[in-house]
Amino acid sequence: MQRFQYYIDGEFLDGEARYPSVDPATGLIWAEMPEARESDVDRAVNAAETALYDGPWAKTTATQRGKLLYKLADLVAANAQKLAELETRDTGKIIRETSAQIAYVADYYRYYAGLADKIEGSYLPIDKPDMDVWLRREPIGVVAMMVPWNSQLFLSAVKIGPALAAGCTMVVKASEDGPAPLLEFARLVHEAGFPAGVVNIITGFGPSCGAALGRHPKVAHVAFTGGPETARHVVRNSAENLASTSLELGGKSPFIVFADADLESAANAQVAGIFAATGQSCVAGSRLIVERSVKDAFLSILKRKAEAIRIGSPLEMATEVGPLATKRQRDHVAALVEKSVQSGARLVTGGQRPDGEGYYFPPTILDCDAVASPSLAEEFFGPVLSVVSFDTEAEALKLANDTRYGLASGVFTQNLTRAHRLMKGIRAGVVWVNTYRAVSPIAPFGGFGLSGQGREGGLAAALDYTRTKTIWLRTSDDPIPDPFVMR
Ligand code: NAD
Repeated sequence: MQRFQYYIDGEFLDGEARYPSVDPATGLIWAEMPEARESDVDRAVNAAETALYDGPWAKTTATQRGKLLYKLADLVAANAQKLAELETRDTGKIIRETSAQIAYVADYYRYYAGLADKIEGSYLPIDKPDMDVWLRREPIGVVAMMVPWNSQLFLSAVKIGPALAAGCTMVVKASEDGPAPLLEFARLVHEAGFPAGVVNIITGFGPSCGAALGRHPKVAHVAFTGGPETARHVVRNSAENLASTSLELGGKSPFIVFADADLESAANAQVAGIFAATGQSCVAGSRLIVERSVKDAFLSILKRKAEAIRIGSPLEMATEVGPLATKRQRDHVAALVEKSVQSGARLVTGGQRPDGEGYYFPPTILDCDAVASPSLAEEFFGPVLSVVSFDTEAEALKLANDTRYGLASGVFTQNLTRAHRLMKGIRAGVVWVNTYRAVSPIAPFGGFGLSGQGREGGLAAALDYTRTKTIWLRTSDDPIPDPFVMR
């Protein structure tokens, strides 16, 4: 049994309490995790605050911060395989994806390493002759970060990278489900040479550890990724410390296919959009909106591809769909499929929970045409696609926007002017045209509505981890005139 530790103030600790972590491929306990309680959270936040204002970090130049980030990026790249294996073991996400994704995570750190000394303040052309006025950009303060189980190294990199570039310190709370990769990543932070307390990485349960972290009086900003219901708790807690929040939440993203699309290519993108990561992806293109004239043809391609998917051990490179991360998640997916079928949705493929060990659920397609299926509104966070059809472009757009989420979307068409109309009309933070599930550190990412607020990625994300300070300097040697008149 492997034992993991958390990382507070530069030290690796066992924690007062520990809990078992289950391998989702077998349903068996494989590791023991430290559980951070309120006192650990307090210690971690205090360490982060001391590091921010009193430790060597406060005197570290932006260029030096960039160098540390480059070192961290190199360490992530060098340890990508080990981290990938841990993530696969602890969350069931297939090794084929974790190894590629973690190698790319290094590029996120490189991007923000390069940005560290390009975050500039400004000089203001003030409307008074005897004043010089500047804006300084300073780190926003101690940042609390909470991430869900899927892609923890990726979801934390898009927060840790810009926050460190901006000069913040932080406490990162890994998900209680599958925290192994982030706890191991802490060893790379240590090896890279960040001063103690700059990055603290803990794990523990949401309502205790997560809530204590989010409302801690010394936390200035909460960067959260997770579900909308949890986000409401995070926002309510932020009423206590008045921390700012950035929220990356769930989705029910539309995937629109017009009759003129390259159907084979669109089907591959749809498979990537809904079955990759076993559907546990915030950007899952979980609502297929297909032009009626090609619906049958497109569904038959999709069915063939879905049934050819290799389901198996997530540690095998050939596996394409592994288990869901937890029994709770698998049961949620199974129950929502059952509820949808009862409401009239027709199973095109999948839908049956396989016998045997592990939390598997097969790639599933539900035809929901003319049915008020709950699968069209609720997020599965699993490998389940719901299908509806349309006759006109206006109808396609209306269906696409028929959701309170607004994270991602896909449009497949050869018609350029139509593509432009849709990219303007779709209410979502990301529109992919003739592609799906593409990401880059250079491109901002985030949602509308129930999918959240704030953007990760790109330069703006680093600026979001800063606050401005306005400096006024009077350049006249004359005595200050009339003290009762505002200058
Ligand atoms: P979740 O909301 O249950 O948990 C997310 C994190 O919040 C966990 O670390 C959890 O311990 C913590 N948490 C729970 N209660 C808390 C509280 N009261 N205060 C502070 N933290 C608390 O999410 P999940 O079920 O683990 O993950 C799935 C959800 O995440 C889905 O909705 C998915 O779409 C979303 N997600 C969004 C993105 C994105 O970038 N938009 C990416 C991945 C996942």
